Amino acid sequence: QLKRDFLQLFTETVHAYILQIPMLQQLVGPVSTASTWKVREVGDGNINFVYIVEGPAGSLCIKQSLPFVRCVGDSWPLTQDRSRIEVQGLVEAAKHAPRHTPKVHHFDSKNAIIVMQYLAPPFIILRRGLIEGKVYNSFAEHITEYMACTLFNTSTFKLDADSYRANVVKYVNSEMCLLTEKVIFAEPYIKASNNRYSPQIEDQVQQLQHDAQAKVAISILKDKFMHQTEALLHGDLHTGSIMVTESETYVIDPEFGFYGPIAFDVAKIVGELLLTLFASYGQEMATPEISRKQQQVWILSTITTIWNSFVSKFQKLWSSTGLTGDSYPIAVHGPDAPAGSSSLQACQQAYFERLFQDVLGFAGAIMIRRIVGISHVADIDEIADVQARVSCERRALAFGKVLLIQILQQSIQSIEALISEAENAA
Ligand code: ADP
Ligand code: MG
Ligand code: MG
Ligand code: MG
Repeated sequence: QLKRDFLQLFTETVHAYILQIPMLQQLVGPVSTASTWKVREVGDGNINFVYIVEGPAGSLCIKQSLPFVRCVGDSWPLTQDRSRIEVQGLVEAAKHAPRHTPKVHHFDSKNAIIVMQYLAPPFIILRRGLIEGKVYNSFAEHITEYMACTLFNTSTFKLDADSYRANVVKYVNSEMCLLTEKVIFAEPYIKASNNRYSPQIEDQVQQLQHDAQAKVAISILKDKFMHQTEALLHGDLHTGSIMVTESETYVIDPEFGFYGPIAFDVAKIVGELLLTLFASYGQEMATPEISRKQQQVWILSTITTIWNSFVSKFQKLWSSTGLTGDSYPIAVHGPDAPAGSSSLQACQQAYFERLFQDVLGFAGAIMIRRIVGISHVADIDEIADVQARVSCERRALAFGKVLLIQILQQSIQSIEALISEAENAA
């Protein structure tokens, strides 16, 4: 499977690898101390291998992509070009959201190895912190800064059409997009061997898979995913791709990056937080003595802030630096444009109204795939009491479907309406 001259890293060989590259070696410590460096593999993701090396001068995070999916093995091949996409995505994001992007130290394209800044404890994967019952009060402002800045600045809201098209071709990420198209937009809606869901919800899954409205809705969303080349997305912005402390937020793992619909990134984080909300109620059902009320209130207010702050940050960028972009041309923006500022406002309002509906639809698809499809969320899977877990899965799946078919019905018109529906459904 591996190319003959490919260097696969192991915990035991990370020292030697770092020692070969003086710039990296200096970041960890003097050569003479190499035998004292500590190396461990920490990859808890499904796809790649991640090593941490710590020495007297500092530490590094080393991520290697093998030509297959880690959790499945050789039987599921996957392009190592994802490593190039990831490093390009990290470098691009660092231009627009430097406070939220780990620094890249080195890229070895031949061996698909990225060496980057290690986010040491107290940094924790957001999903893990939330499962522990924590809340993060700066998170909404940070993640909206990351999303607004990366999405706005890579789109034709900001770029001229020529630079934008040159950028689009650098992020053709077909295999990774195919993976998303399969596991999010196809398999949950058919009988697929990859699907795994609790046998207790078989009836509800059958119902979903026989629902014509759901099929129309997921097809519309898949079409948007495939054809709406709006901005460079992170592409996998779930709570496992975010590392946090009380005061800082970093976004890792942009290997699914591609030019796609802005709503998809926003929806992944909203959909995942909704799943965490449902899980939080499920946890409370399993262990009623531990109240999760504070976290539930925080999740709902965080979703509200994420939407409102995203819109306000994006709109601010659009109004101030959007003049260079080719999306909304001179007729809307220019000083001589008839009704200049009121037409700009009207365009912005119409855009964000459309975006909101797409966010709801995609968020519904995200919730559904995490209950029915191959890849679940630990938030729900780790609810120890089976009855509590299944009840949570039923609610989350039902609410996912409500959101999914919003793309047809558009009956939820505001973030406040979403929050009250979610609170009732959870
Ligand atoms: P995958 O693509 O396999 O999902 P990730 O990039 O998400 O890999 O990394 C897997 C895990 O490795 C993360 O959940 C996190 O625990 C750890 N990790 C990844 N990058 C860093 C980093 N820069 N600093 C600290 N830990 C990291
Ligand atoms: Mg990951
Ligand atoms: Mg992970
Ligand atoms: Mg990944």
